Amino acid sequence: VFDVLVVGGGPAGNSAAIYAARKGIHTGMVVETYGGQVMDTVGIENMIGTPYTEGPKLMAQVEAHVNQYKVDIMKGQRAKNIRKNDLIEVELENGAVLRAKTAILAVGAHWRNVNVPGEEEFRTKGVTNCPHCDGPLFAGKDVAVIGGGNSGIEAAIDLAGLAKQVYVLEFLPELKADQVLQDRIQALANVTVIKNAATKAITGREQVEAITYMDRATNEEHTIALEGVFVQIGLVPNTAWLKDSGVALNERGEIIIDSHGATSLEGVFAAGDCTTSAYKQIIISMGAGATAALGAFDHLIRQ
Ligand code: FAD
Repeated sequence: VFDVLVVGGGPAGNSAAIYAARKGIHTGMVVETYGGQVMDTVGIENMIGTPYTEGPKLMAQVEAHVNQYKVDIMKGQRAKNIRKNDLIEVELENGAVLRAKTAILAVGAHWRNVNVPGEEEFRTKGVTNCPHCDGPLFAGKDVAVIGGGNSGIEAAIDLAGLAKQVYVLEFLPELKADQVLQDRIQALANVTVIKNAATKAITGREQVEAITYMDRATNEEHTIALEGVFVQIGLVPNTAWLKDSGVALNERGEIIIDSHGATSLEGVFAAGDCTTSAYKQIIISMGAGATAALGAFDHLIRQ
């Protein structure tokens, strides 16, 4: 029986495991793909105290750090259910059931793709999802943001301060973002909103050079020359398996947590991109993992 069983091996899960293990309690980790989203990241410039690193390098250092403690890491294992009896039971795809006094869910999220030619090919070569991470790479250049919801419009406002010209491509006839954000971009001279735009392809040679979209009102295709494409059509938490578990999710599928990282299921905590945390970043997930581990430890000593 684990004192703390962490599900997930990204920044949040590893931070939770280190904080738990440092309390001298029996800590386990169940991880589908070790390293999480960070493994897909080339340059990281916002890990405070580390001006530049790369995803695989950062996660190798994190793994070396975890391995300094006694943590049972079960890699290549996917959790498919969680329930509470006397103990918390985490059921894996392979049929095994792990038992723990507390659990920390740190299963992360994935970006929704537009699924057009060029999107995968040019990932890290001009196609990205994160304005906070990659915006500065496009200073003085022309970029597009795909998606006119809150995250898309926030990205456009953010990028307008750096890029030369920002095109927002919204599939629907109207933007879905809050009115205050829409008012803000109206006032920005270097942002052009294109509605009814169905993205067709992202093209280039070594790097992104253009985006092609179809005007859904006229069925005409248009191509814009640019160097960056920010896909902002939603972050999907990896929580579908929790739907009937008693761990409450919000309407976006995010695990609802309190200020101690506690979920609605007693003894179950959560951290990182899979939660209602307002912002989704490495450093924020690491902080949240630490909070959840300390929350779980507090819970244990009160049992
Ligand atoms: P994740 O990193 O998503 O990790 C989730 C973990 O849970 C993985 O190990 C996964 O395999 C595992 N898992 C999922 N489901 C299950 C299951 N059912 N059972 C077992 N394990 C499971 N942030 C920055 O701060 N700076 C950047 O420069 C930056 N660049 C980015 C670039 C890209 C391309 C992407 C995609 C994201 C970037 N981000 C960046 C965001 C950052 O990567 C995330 O905020 C961070 O990784 C979230 O950490 P996490 O631990 O919550 O989740």
